[in-house]
Amino acid sequence: MKIRRFTFNMFAVNTYVVWDEASGEAAIVDPGMVSASDNRRLTDFITDNKLTVKHLINTHLHVDHAIGNGFVTETYGTPMSANSKDGFLGQAMQGQARMFGLDIDVNNVTINHELNNGDRIALGDDYLEVLEVPGHSPGSIALYSPSGKFVITGDALFSGSIGRTDLPGGNQKQLTQSIMARLFTLPDDTTVYPGHGPDTTIGYEKQFNPFF
Ligand SMILES: [Zn+2]
Repeated sequence: MKIRRFTFNMFAVNTYVVWDEASGEAAIVDPGMVSASDNRRLTDFITDNKLTVKHLINTHLHVDHAIGNGFVTETYGTPMSANSKDGFLGQAMQGQARMFGLDIDVNNVTINHELNNGDRIALGDDYLEVLEVPGHSPGSIALYSPSGKFVITGDALFSGSIGRTDLPGGNQKQLTQSIMARLFTLPDDTTVYPGHGPDTTIGYEKQFNPFF
């Protein structure tokens, strides 16, 4: 499994394209594009690498991670997958934008396919495994690739930090517990691709993350 990071919008959200090399089947995770040039960077990459977009996945439904959902759906006709416990956030996109001080029009997003802990999302003959990691938001998930030795952690786990827990539905105790149970049990050499900032590894965070 291959992965490519893009960084979009005023919140520097990491958007990921994940794909199976043999089949060219791809998933777009947390589309944060806000401009035509952002959109073009993403679509050029998909086209240049001859990828077929099979999945649109949101690690959670904060507006900065879902602002480009509409464009992906319109362009590729891809249904959206996320955990149902973040459904209420998907129905409050404009309110979230106001709360974050964003002067933009953003459409609500509706979950078409619910993802739960242990689900496998197929890309060709390979897959991503869904890990529920609530606490930053109630429906936060991580996406683990055993073959690629990486995990996309959304805003649950960052390099040297964890997600904020002061937003609706946040809970710090739940977040640290879910990271310990679902992420720190992965192999130490697993690369962590977070929703913001640089990548890290599970082993490094287990040793040095100040929240544990
Ligand atoms: Zn978030």
